[in-house]
Amino acid sequence: MEDCLFCKIVEKELPSYIIYENDKILAFLDIKPITNGHTLVIPKKHSTDMTEMSDEEASELINKAKELIPKIVKAVGAKGANFATNCKSESGQDVFHTHFHIIPRWDQKELPPWPHSNPSKEELAEVKNNIVSFLKE
Ligand code: 5GP
Ligand code: ZN
Repeated sequence: MEDCLFCKIVEKELPSYIIYENDKILAFLDIKPITNGHTLVIPKKHSTDMTEMSDEEASELINKAKELIPKIVKAVGAKGANFATNCKSESGQDVFHTHFHIIPRWDQKELPPWPHSNPSKEELAEVKNNIVSFLKE
């Protein structure tokens, strides 16, 4: 897709530090890593975020990431990893070509924890009922 940064990386029109490639998937280092070894795993075929991918394409991408995570963790000498994807700008997505972040971790204190809230049982039940009714549509 024209003017898509990651499509340009796929086409090798822009340089990147590629760690893995096959005919459908590319994995390369994040240029501004959150931790050492921070890797982005992307489909070569453009989609804006993972909700646009076919089940088969999404499965292949996640399976490849699943394979890469322990290898990257071992390579950089980490203890674990965060595995995440952002969908839509409100969630923090900046590059609108599907990508999964693999962020090696050594210690919980490296990054701020997610700010958890403390809803009542009634509030949780209301949210649950709302989502379940949408799932039935
Ligand atoms: P998002 O916020 O969309 O989930 O993540 C986009 C990621 O892409 C960010 O972590 C950012 O550092 C990374 N990024 C942005 N531009 C480039 C680039 O030109 N090359 C590489 N390798 N990573 C990039
Ligand atoms: Zn793209």
